[in-house]
Amino acid sequence: MNFADTELVMGILKNHGYVLAKEIDDANVILLNTCSIRDNAEQKIYARLEHLRGNKRRKPGTVIGILGCMAERLRKNLMEENGNPPLVPQGGIRTSLREKIVDLVVGPDEYRRLPEFIDSAFAGEKGIGVKLSRTETYDDIIPYREDGLNAWISVMRGCDKFCTFCVVPFTRGRERSRALDSIVAEIKQLSERGFREVTLLGQNVNSYIDDENDFADLLAASAKVDRLIRVRFTTSHPQDLSNKLLYTIAEHPNICNYIHLPVQSGSNRILELMNRTYTIEHYLNLIDSARTIIPGVSFSTDIISGFPTETDEDHLMTLDVIRKVRYDGAYMFKYSPREGTKAFDMKDDVAEELKAKRLNDIIDLQHQISFEINQSQIGTEEIILVEGNSKKSDDFFAGRTDTNKIVIFPRDEEIVVGDYVKVKINRATSGTLFGEIL
Ligand code: SAH
Ligand code: SF4
Repeated sequence: MNFADTELVMGILKNHGYVLAKEIDDANVILLNTCSIRDNAEQKIYARLEHLRGNKRRKPGTVIGILGCMAERLRKNLMEENGNPPLVPQGGIRTSLREKIVDLVVGPDEYRRLPEFIDSAFAGEKGIGVKLSRTETYDDIIPYREDGLNAWISVMRGCDKFCTFCVVPFTRGRERSRALDSIVAEIKQLSERGFREVTLLGQNVNSYIDDENDFADLLAASAKVDRLIRVRFTTSHPQDLSNKLLYTIAEHPNICNYIHLPVQSGSNRILELMNRTYTIEHYLNLIDSARTIIPGVSFSTDIISGFPTETDEDHLMTLDVIRKVRYDGAYMFKYSPREGTKAFDMKDDVAEELKAKRLNDIIDLQHQISFEINQSQIGTEEIILVEGNSKKSDDFFAGRTDTNKIVIFPRDEEIVVGDYVKVKINRATSGTLFGEIL
């Protein structure tokens, strides 16, 4: 999402005559697009700001800005700058602000005003723009994209789900969707530029709505633009994944047979405390329906270990769901308390070591399953979209299957990036498949 937002910001700034600096030391404006989802995401930004202190010292006129979710959370610190008492008594950004490192703080719905804020910052005035909007979708802004294969397209912004652990509804505001026609027009332009894959983005794409068009309609319309463009999407919330959507995926060969369906926990008690609004039984039924309607569909998920009050029994239920579903992949996290969320008021009572141990159990099990699933692919034939050289050697190409698996295969002079090729899989690890072109 931030990758897409950064392209949007670059689009806005380019329209105002800015150009991208080649090196950070050449830049007159340095903007950090930030994430607040877990504490370690914010810590990375504090560390980066510390680093930028040197840039400011070497070139005192440099404008440094914080964009994105941390800008929303930082409001308090800025109020403190204006003479109010500190509400968050620690943290590098406050120090940085005190030492005048950060010149502007702009949240996700105020990017149109960035040129104005930057002008003021050059004139020595600090800028704060953190208002959230009910309508902003940046529909008319063309993001700046380098030529490539995959384009990210935000189809909706914000989130109304209010999972109790999550800061997103507070930092990104209310849910709103972009118009279907403008998304389709953008995909047409991407097709003309030679893009081969679009990923439709939203915190909960299943609540996309534009008049009578829901997300399934948007997916179908996107897939029809150019059959050589693969359409991916993320993220689906399990409460709203409809059979209509599953049938749409099955019907269109260029909508990838891959669903990222975050489960978070295997325990109904924890799911309720998380306000996820589904039960494990509902979730497993969905997986069954998807497997019936879309043969060969693959799944990935998100899991949180150590949510408040999680017991060993709850944890075992999470391992059990992983075994039942057999995900192709998972993003796995330790619970990180976020100020202002409901869960923040519950006690963060699972000891750090126990969270880490449970997370390791989850990671080990998932690795084992990914390995077994990948082993079972040996001997099969897959259609791969060629994405470029393999990271490790220019003698090999890398590409991805419809189900989002990376495949490495020997380079062939007749094949270029962007081609679809058929590859026979002959070796596999838990993260990668290896094969030969047929
Ligand atoms: N909208 C998406 C998720 C966006 S955040 C969805 O609902 O599926 C991506 C993932 O980060 C979440 O699925 C969750 O697993 C994780 N996450 C969010 N808040 C967290 C927190 N406070 N601590 C740990 N992980 C968190
Ligand atoms: Fe956060 Fe839940 Fe919204 Fe996802 S659905 S962004 S986890 S509140």
